[in-house]
Amino acid sequence: MNREITQTEKTKIRRLPKRGAYDRKTIYKILDEAFICHVGFTVDNQPFVIPTGYARVGDNLLIHGSAASRMLRALAREVDICITVTLIDGLVLARSAFHHSMNYRSVVIFGKAKLISDETEKSNALKAFTEHIIPNRWSEIRLPTAKELKATTVLSLPLTEASAKIRTGDPKDDDEDYAIDVWAGVIPLKTAAGKPIADAKLKEGIALPTYVSDYKRN
Ligand SMILES: Cc1cc2nc3c(=O)[nH]c(=O)nc-3n(C[C@H](O)[C@H](O)[C@H](O)COP(=O)(O)OP(=O)(O)OC[C@H]3O[C@@H](n4cnc5c(N)ncnc54)[C@H](O)[C@@H]3O)c2cc1C
Repeated sequence: MNREITQTEKTKIRRLPKRGAYDRKTIYKILDEAFICHVGFTVDNQPFVIPTGYARVGDNLLIHGSAASRMLRALAREVDICITVTLIDGLVLARSAFHHSMNYRSVVIFGKAKLISDETEKSNALKAFTEHIIPNRWSEIRLPTAKELKATTVLSLPLTEASAKIRTGDPKDDDEDYAIDVWAGVIPLKTAAGKPIADAKLKEGIALPTYVSDYKRN
């Protein structure tokens, strides 16, 4: 699976285009590692950018939330939206202030989201969210009731207009600056899970599942 997404006027990367990628394999790897996106949309000429969770299912990105959410009600009207996802891999310390940077992997998606109203599809979407963030959780928890499904809005955005941009490696200093006596390099950064904290109301005798004790991203 290495299908290219056609570049458009909107997704063509103009600054440092060699860092760009349009193949689904690269884009989906970033989407599957991250789980928070920022959704940009406009209501009555007012731009909003709202953070939210997501899951990728096939060639669609799903978002969900309360049926009362202004964001979800606005997006369900099939307005133009732009979603971004960012992973930070490191801080890049150059010899000059100008060339300091970050190593990152990011995706920008454009499109219009469609409401998922079928109950089974909705329930599958909620499973996808849960399993995307905490694999193996869904089979252990109480599943949503019809009332809970009704109170939840799920939207699906087709991944038809999207790009990835990736920076890796050392700082890129100006030739004459490599002689300066200052440390340069990369401070790697990653998302790490801490020690799980049991709910104060947890029943006695419930063992910590390995998918919790061994939780890792990527
Ligand atoms: C990491 C993360 C994951 C989230 N995951 C989800 C999810 O999966 N589903 C979901 O529905 N919501 C999620 N949220 C909450 C989401 O950001 C919105 O708050 C929520 O969707 C309500 O949207 P709304 O448009 O109805 O907000 P409204 O209450 O209508 O927003 C009114 C105003 O409140 C402010 N506001 C709203 N949200 C935020 C925020 N997060 N931070 C700061 N100010 C804010 C803004 O000024 C906004 O214009 C998540 C938030 C975070 C940070």
